[in-house]
Amino acid sequence: NEHIILAKRPQGMPDESDFTLEEIPLPVPQAGEALVRTVYLSVDPYMRGRMSDAKSYAKPYEVGQVIAGGAIGQVMESADPTLREGDFVVGTWGWQRYAAVQTGSLRKVNPDLAPISTALGVLGMTGLTAYFGLLDIGQPQAGETVVVSGGAGAVGMIVGQIAKIKGARVVGIAGSDEKNRYLTEKLGFSAAINYRSDDLASALAEACPDGVDVYFDNVGGEVSDAVLRLINRNARIPICGQIALYNLEKPDTGPRIQSLLLTNTALMKGFLVGDYASRYPEALQELAVWLRDGKIQYAENIVHGFEKTIEAFLGLFSGENLGKQLVKVSEE
Ligand code: NDP
Repeated sequence: NEHIILAKRPQGMPDESDFTLEEIPLPVPQAGEALVRTVYLSVDPYMRGRMSDAKSYAKPYEVGQVIAGGAIGQVMESADPTLREGDFVVGTWGWQRYAAVQTGSLRKVNPDLAPISTALGVLGMTGLTAYFGLLDIGQPQAGETVVVSGGAGAVGMIVGQIAKIKGARVVGIAGSDEKNRYLTEKLGFSAAINYRSDDLASALAEACPDGVDVYFDNVGGEVSDAVLRLINRNARIPICGQIALYNLEKPDTGPRIQSLLLTNTALMKGFLVGDYASRYPEALQELAVWLRDGKIQYAENIVHGFEKTIEAFLGLFSGENLGKQLVKVSEE
């Protein structure tokens, strides 16, 4: 068995030396626990926040402790009659090959509904984030313009497609032409802008001739500064993530935009997907129907091998992934 622990708190952009991969004995499940073999594990931008000890909504990881996070596995041993050997489950045991996990913290995954990996993506945390942030706060209406940054990521590509289902015109922002072609040609976004190579202000003005009614913000920083200059009266701005800021060593003070919110009577609101937990079942059901009916598609970027986990995590900050980044640890 192996696991990955936080070796020290990263300063700025993390690197391999902030983590240690260790060999450890196979855990022995205690009362109330199941032994699980990891099949997929998730690497997520929010994990960067938990590596720091700054005050936040989630408890910081402890130095020397395993990196906790979303994972899918197969039950090898269980004394809980509702979980049988061979069942697939999703939980938060994180970066370890085998884990003894409290059965109450596991949700069964139905492999006949969709590929099991979707339980970490479109039918899991990132799909739910897109769903609640967009529908609860963004509330896109038919004919409105929705802009989504981080548009080719796990959350962003689902945001754009749900906005389309609601009849909105969707403009994505992502870091490569290849990603943007995927958004316009495969997913039917009306336009997609490359924030690394395009002149943002003019590309946005061209792509949003009627202004911006909903801005779903995954990245923050200069990309968001440019979009916010185009908001319309009564615009809604769900603040989902600020990945452009996660590795900054000094706080970033951008333009002060409160007057734009005031004059446009706009709403900007942060949200945490976990606060919607009581509504997950209804959302997962609707997402599964959209998926089955071909109204939403998803992409996954899968690297193979537990030893690639750290590299896959670091790749999130250089945009290596189209869609949900996963690590495949063992066969299904
Ligand atoms: P993604 O799949 O979108 O992966 C991260 C992507 O961010 C990269 O592929 C990269 O794409 C882009 N990126 C990286 N660095 C920068 C930068 N400096 N400026 C602009 N873009 C950058 O991750 P997720 O979909 O899982 O998460 C998206 C956002 O949502 C994150 O900010 C995350 O923290 C947040 N989140 C919030 C939740 C909540 O409850 N509020 C829950 C889940 C996620 P590119 O090539 O386009 O640069």
